[in-house]
Amino acid sequence: MTHDVIVIGGSYAGMAAALQLLRARRKVLVIDAGQRRNRFAAESHGFLGQDGVDPAEIASKAREQLLAYPTLTWVEGLAERAEGEKDAFAVTTADGVRHDGRRLLFATGVSDALPAIEGLGERWGKSVFHCPYCHGYELDLGRIGCIATGPISVHQAQLLPEWGEVTLFLNGSFTPDAEQRADLEARGVTIEETLVTRLEGKADIRLADGRLLPFAGLFTASRVSPATPIAEHLGCTIEETPFGTQIQTDAMKETTIPGAFACGDAARIPHSVTLAVGDGAWAGAQLHRSLVF
Ligand code: FAD
Ligand code: MG
Repeated sequence: MTHDVIVIGGSYAGMAAALQLLRARRKVLVIDAGQRRNRFAAESHGFLGQDGVDPAEIASKAREQLLAYPTLTWVEGLAERAEGEKDAFAVTTADGVRHDGRRLLFATGVSDALPAIEGLGERWGKSVFHCPYCHGYELDLGRIGCIATGPISVHQAQLLPEWGEVTLFLNGSFTPDAEQRADLEARGVTIEETLVTRLEGKADIRLADGRLLPFAGLFTASRVSPATPIAEHLGCTIEETPFGTQIQTDAMKETTIPGAFACGDAARIPHSVTLAVGDGAWAGAQLHRSLVF
């Protein structure tokens, strides 16, 4: 069977796109490896009507609603290779099965490259975050540590005082200039030059000189890139953003390969569930139009 659209990535963006297509009675195949970016967090914030809900619950409820449409096929697994061209794409999954589709949608999300600090990885999404709109409110205006990864961290440290008293740990990642220092100081940000040794307790920072500084929560600007290289291997152009790299699309969410579209974190900044869902809904409608006209 040839599907109208093969959606690679069945999370918020991919499902929002699939929903539009299914409601137009199109044959949709969703291939999903089940590795949502927010799988480390127990609560998702800022998505209207679902504030504070477990992100897994939001996704599973959506999937349940999609599965009620008879033209959906859902495959759990990793799409390893995409090839072909408009009206004749083929996607091969890790089990060696080939799936045919007229259009492709990459809704594959991004992965976060985290600073290599002992104890940071296991606290990601629990007491270490990247987005204050998602996780700042719950810190109750407490003390916030911002672990720098490079010059982009100046921006993060300038914004964070909205959510608490901020210490910026340069951690040898860059040196702010005089103007940046003055701006941060004017916002009440303490700049700490001593290197971070590891994280301890809930969100405590152990410094190289032995000091232990406790915080209500920590932020760091992770560098992102498409979670899997499948779009890049098809030949889609990958572009730089201030946060890392993403799949380049036009206003209709079509990539540089005709008939192959991309949406969600993998193809737009900034990132949130709300924006991924909006981007996905738009991509779904544009995919539909590309099949009709
Ligand atoms: P994802 O949700 O990342 O889903 C991508 C899907 O594609 C995954 O299921 C993945 O397995 C699949 N996939 C990738 N490649 C392949 C392949 N080759 N084959 C098959 N499947 C594939 N946002 C908020 O709005 N509120 C929050 O509170 C919030 N908290 C967050 C906490 C953390 C720790 C992080 C890291 C992010 C948080 N975000 C939050 C951001 C949010 O997670 C993303 O914006 C959102 O998940 C993007 O949705 P998406 O569908 O584009 O990608
Ligand atoms: Mg998705």
